[in-house]
Amino acid sequence: MKFLSDAMHGRITRFLRILGYDTFYPFDMDDSEILKIAKKENRIIITRDIQLSQRAKSKNIPVILLTSVDFIKNFNKIYKTFSINLELNSSKSRCPICNSELIPIKKEAVFGKVPQKTYQRFKKFWICKNKECGKIYYEGIHWEKMRKQLEKVKNLK
Ligand SMILES: [Zn+2]
Repeated sequence: MKFLSDAMHGRITRFLRILGYDTFYPFDMDDSEILKIAKKENRIIITRDIQLSQRAKSKNIPVILLTSVDFIKNFNKIYKTFSINLELNSSKSRCPICNSELIPIKKEAVFGKVPQKTYQRFKKFWICKNKECGKIYYEGIHWEKMRKQLEKVKNLK
């Protein structure tokens, strides 16, 4: 399952990528082009734009129209509609910044590239496969925060 999340859904995009879903986040792209890419790459469109949603439907492109301003509610709608997996698993995660896959990297290899305290505290690290990005990840405090938010998404009535 792949997604295309249109503008203003930066947070949703990051969460989907960390959960392991390939999510394209177009920047400054018109609707026709968005529809073309979604169709070609089999992506589900996530949008707030009614017109875009209607155009997608007329072309048989799966689309989810978000109507809330609340992140938890919106993500819950995506979760319920597509039964996405809400379990965090770093070995499946994609880079929240560039959507590339992450690969495990030896602790020694990140020495000097992450803050000293982080280096001492964590055992497992991942690096973005995309050399131009190359961001390093670990299951820090942001990870726990995300887990709590995903719990809320799951338990929303
Ligand atoms: Zn990256």
